[in-house]
Amino acid sequence: MGLVRKIAIAILLISFFTFAAFFGRLPALRNTPIGFLYRVLWIHIPRGLTRIDQALTGGRISTTTKRYAHTLWNDRHPLVMIFFILLLSISELLFLPPAWLLMTPFRRIFGSILLLLPYLLLYTSAASDPGYITPSNLSPSWTLYPYDFTIYHPGQTCRTCRTLKPARSKHCAICKRCISKMDHHCIFINNCVGYNNQHWFLLLLLSTAILISYAAYVGLSLLSGEILKNLSSWTITGKGYTWAQYLNIWGWALQEYTRIGAVTLLCLLTAPLVWGLLGYHLYLIWAGTTTNETMKWSDWTAEMADGFVFKCSIPADRRKDLTVESRVTSWPAESQQVLERTEDGKPPRKLDVPGVGEWERVWTLADIENLYDLGFLDNLKDVFLRRKEQ
Ligand SMILES: [Zn+2]
Ligand SMILES: [Zn+2]
Repeated sequence: MGLVRKIAIAILLISFFTFAAFFGRLPALRNTPIGFLYRVLWIHIPRGLTRIDQALTGGRISTTTKRYAHTLWNDRHPLVMIFFILLLSISELLFLPPAWLLMTPFRRIFGSILLLLPYLLLYTSAASDPGYITPSNLSPSWTLYPYDFTIYHPGQTCRTCRTLKPARSKHCAICKRCISKMDHHCIFINNCVGYNNQHWFLLLLLSTAILISYAAYVGLSLLSGEILKNLSSWTITGKGYTWAQYLNIWGWALQEYTRIGAVTLLCLLTAPLVWGLLGYHLYLIWAGTTTNETMKWSDWTAEMADGFVFKCSIPADRRKDLTVESRVTSWPAESQQVLERTEDGKPPRKLDVPGVGEWERVWTLADIENLYDLGFLDNLKDVFLRRKEQ
């Protein structure tokens, strides 16, 4: 019992720290313990270690470490992807040999299909072009989405690529290129998630979540079946046993079938993380936004709450500057508002924006339209069905 509990706590802690280290910078988690832990891990601890190194070696160790960390953090490398593949493969090698003999033919076939999918989808997500923007393919990518005059304005150029920035695109510092509908750079696939591969990324999350959950289910039912062989009154719900007895019996099964038990436990603990990540991405699709855009929206929310943001309408027949935006896009809507922030809280006096009429102060996101939200189903279609570029 003692050993099992220690392993369970260790896996739980590792999962929690990994989650905090990777996702703690998301704006939604900023004021939570996860955001706090992220800052401790990435800001306070490195700062403390640097100070100690300064005192001991004059900063030599931290200079070398920083150089390596810079390469690891700012360049494309498959380290985390290899870790992900190893974690999958080692778990499968541990689990399958002892479990295979106990599995029904249906579970063997279904399990084998589920097993292959994450590898295939990892390959398609990692090897595909996420939507790189180059001067030569700029014009197809800027007809995908119109500028919303809120978080994307025409006429802005990428300082690194020196190309115009199409609406919803972003420069990735790790890929060193601009990406169409950039969501985020994902270190698990060693690639950006963008317009061209976001469907592969979502399917990768879905297939991994299903595989982990199915493995947990099969593992639990196999262990329960083995318990039943020794304990004829056993049911998986533990009816007729006290909590202590119930946990003791599971503890016995986990120790007796260590390989199946350890992987089952790992699956049980990691499944919520993968489902959570999938849920977060489905939420982004429902809201018609991307990971990158949530950060922009979060900045706007803060400015709105201070009363520094104004909107006014855009006439339907406005003249477009065709040197910086496309006349037609394949998106079925056009922006009807322009948003401006001011320094002094007074309405803007700008003349170079296409707005007409009075400026109206906006206090919350609910007061403005999100041009990129067509409703959940149409947003989902935009992810899974490639629109023809104009
Ligand atoms: Zn760029
Ligand atoms: Zn990238």
